[in-house]
Amino acid sequence: MEYDVIVRDGLVIDGTGAAPFKSDVGIRDGVIAAVGESVSGTAKSEIDATGLVVSPGFIDAHTHYDAQIDWDPWLGSSGRHGVTTILMGNCGFTLAPVKPSDRDYVVQMLTRVEGMPLEALKDGVTWKWESYGEYLDAIDASLGVNVMPQVGHSAIRYYAMGLDACEREATPDEVAAMEGLVKDAMASGAWGFTTSTSAMHNDSAGRPIPSRMAAPDEFVRLAAAMKDKPGALIGISPGTKFSGISPAERDLMIDMARAGDATVLWNPLKYSDQEPGLLDKMLTASAEAEERGARIYAVFNPGPDGPMRLDMQNAFRFDILPKWKSINVLPFKEKLAAYADPVTRALLKKDLAEGEGLLASGLRTMWPRILVAEAFHPENKTYVGSKIQDIAEREGVEPIDIFLDIAVRDELQTVFMQEERTETSSATAAMDRASASKYVVYGGSDAGAHLDFMSNEGMPSRAIALRVREEGRYSLEGIVHGFTGRVADVLGLQGRGRLQVGAAADVTVFDMASIGVSDPYMAADLPGGSARLSTDAVGIQYTLVNGVMAYEKGKVTTTPAGKLLRRH
Ligand SMILES: [Zn+2]
Repeated sequence: MEYDVIVRDGLVIDGTGAAPFKSDVGIRDGVIAAVGESVSGTAKSEIDATGLVVSPGFIDAHTHYDAQIDWDPWLGSSGRHGVTTILMGNCGFTLAPVKPSDRDYVVQMLTRVEGMPLEALKDGVTWKWESYGEYLDAIDASLGVNVMPQVGHSAIRYYAMGLDACEREATPDEVAAMEGLVKDAMASGAWGFTTSTSAMHNDSAGRPIPSRMAAPDEFVRLAAAMKDKPGALIGISPGTKFSGISPAERDLMIDMARAGDATVLWNPLKYSDQEPGLLDKMLTASAEAEERGARIYAVFNPGPDGPMRLDMQNAFRFDILPKWKSINVLPFKEKLAAYADPVTRALLKKDLAEGEGLLASGLRTMWPRILVAEAFHPENKTYVGSKIQDIAEREGVEPIDIFLDIAVRDELQTVFMQEERTETSSATAAMDRASASKYVVYGGSDAGAHLDFMSNEGMPSRAIALRVREEGRYSLEGIVHGFTGRVADVLGLQGRGRLQVGAAADVTVFDMASIGVSDPYMAADLPGGSARLSTDAVGIQYTLVNGVMAYEKGKVTTTPAGKLLRRH
């Protein structure tokens, strides 16, 4: 029999959770035509996978590629890390529907909330659309990975209400208009509707983003607008996601899931030693939802977070603290003066000390892990390579003071890097409980967003490297299942996520001995020359998308073969 590709002699993990087995994989017309045997016959090309693992391509259930996809159909960072399908349009932020007069608003919102450089968005986005359907038509080309789009509440609300969307509840007529927009988006192929009630989500003027002003009834009505498409997705970034999911938000998610006959995914589930009880409390919300006939999953990264970059020009992570947030939105000169001013600084310290929830406690305790990576002022150069906590102890000052002194001297150009946390035993135990929970779906990379401080596209590789190779505590087939077949099942994505005859040939071939992610670096590859934090894949030998070799050892090989997947 003739094949397009035969992957020979690999250790196959089929994505179902079943034990690995030695096998060839035969691919024809973009589909898996043979697996579980040694394939005889010829192929146009063969891949020697001796000593390598052959798994389904990873599925990333939380990304923000909605802008990047317009100028970079490769969505390069994900594919080279073995990801073959992404879900985008999360947290309520999409580039459609949009009126021509509202483009600037959408751009500044994405800049503030999702850390996409303003210049890149201004240079890169083509705006060949107004409606959501026109947007899908504009991006419906050969793509580096398969793309599942969702429509965003903030885009819909701004379309229906203009700037009032950031200020008040909607009138019945406006809600009806929004219902129509959700239906339009679903009819053109959206997988669902996403929203945010997170207090971190503010536009560049410091106003709440539109979805935060919605009344509970609006959320439920927009969910109900999808009910003739059962099993659609509702993505939400809940306001109480870092403080345990309040009963009100749990009930809102349940009401939305039931009204739309939909699957709710909330993002992200995190653990902190400072608030050890929260993780289990949040999983309980899903159990309660199940009792009431609703499907609610938490999006969770079972592996390490990866290093994070921090500078005080954007400083989005501090937006959870009101005083810090008020300074973040100031013009540069005023911001600089505020960080230097002792009176303001006292207020910042108080704010940091009193902040509630996981993120605030994370910021309070990060100093031993914050490294001065790059500095510019002569006085700062001696600090390069040192941790803030150590510098503070040496100089007998508070960490926050030396941190801000350094940043101010460098006119906020200093680059700090936050190193990986060493996991405590209680953290490991909690992570294990979450990883094994039936209410969790693996993912949460935020790929395409927070380009100045995060690069998590290689999340599956990091998790496999730590949990399977280094710790030896998770089975490879279990974690691969979590990033492939299991995600496909939760998302309702049929025919992907498994290496089975008839399934799409999305395949990742990797070396278990070396799989991982490089150290992050800044890559100036965005439109207008702006830079993003990036990482290279390690140990991912081949990524095939719809049967076509897309990446070989991290390098692009052919024209992309990923598809825009429309849900109908
Ligand atoms: Zn998000």
